Amino acid sequence: MPYDEGQGWHDPEIMPYGNIDLSPAAMCFHYGQEVFEGLKAYRTAEGKVQLFRPEENFKRLNKSNERLVIPELPVELGMQCLTELIKVEKDWVPSKEGESLYIRPFIIAVDPFLGVKPGEHYLFIIILSPSGAYYETGLNPVNIYVESKYVRAVRGGMGFAKTGGNYAASLIGQDEAHKQNYSQVLWLDGVEQKYIEEVGAMNIFFVIDGKVVTPMLQGSILPGITRKSAIEVCKSMGLTVEERRIDIQEIADAYDAGKLDEVFGTGTAAVISPVGHLKWNDKVMEINGNKIGKISQMLYDTMTGIQWGKVEDTFNWIYP
Ligand code: PMP
Repeated sequence: MPYDEGQGWHDPEIMPYGNIDLSPAAMCFHYGQEVFEGLKAYRTAEGKVQLFRPEENFKRLNKSNERLVIPELPVELGMQCLTELIKVEKDWVPSKEGESLYIRPFIIAVDPFLGVKPGEHYLFIIILSPSGAYYETGLNPVNIYVESKYVRAVRGGMGFAKTGGNYAASLIGQDEAHKQNYSQVLWLDGVEQKYIEEVGAMNIFFVIDGKVVTPMLQGSILPGITRKSAIEVCKSMGLTVEERRIDIQEIADAYDAGKLDEVFGTGTAAVISPVGHLKWNDKVMEINGNKIGKISQMLYDTMTGIQWGKVEDTFNWIYP
């Protein structure tokens, strides 16, 4: 669906997947004016196709738009485009439990212009891709490396926005983590490099002495929809949840004191990723004996249960 200044968003179309025609001078290629989202469609055992909190994705898209000076895409319009597309392509939603249809909405500035300014012409596109089960053999702990040299985002920057540049900034840390045989990077804040922010494509939680603790949203981390949902589930179970600044030293101290019960990541892809090892400089912390913790398992079962229609959706999160 194009946007043209003076005309707004207009003429949405569903078309077969294929290449698109863009000028080599299209602004998105040069100045990174681009935002995106990621969500999934699930098929229940009864064959119903459903989405998990999709309006939240369009609300977040608009927060990213605002930061990148991209025109607002009304949530209802985005939802209408998405639901029409899924209706047409509903056979693409896999029926095997654990599998889903990944949905990638995005907006790019397409003006052919060499010079830094906000675009006047945009394209909103949604692509779909069937996605296999994240955990083929049940939940498995991941190993995380704390990045101490590079930073991904700073306060006042665009860390909270879902835009390609943030991911470009994170590649070098990911590369370093992989070289050291860790699968994911945990980023620290961009000012003092000691407060915990988020993992490459997940938010992060710690269970310290029975309390669930996660970094507060201060503009430099993505406000994850899974994060928000996990907090609601934890509170509904009567757990104490603290959203606050977390010094990496506090985690190391809690570990040494035997009080770091669990660490897990949250995100659309894996929903809940228990962390088995956390490496910070020379310190390697084995979390919960490299086993899945009780809270991680409870959150995984509750949230995937709701997504697959096996657990009652008392939160009203499902969009049929
Ligand atoms: N942080 C980053 C940087 C991400 O890319 C993602 C994945 N979208 C998340 C956190 C988790 O967000 P969500 O729960 O909305 O998928």
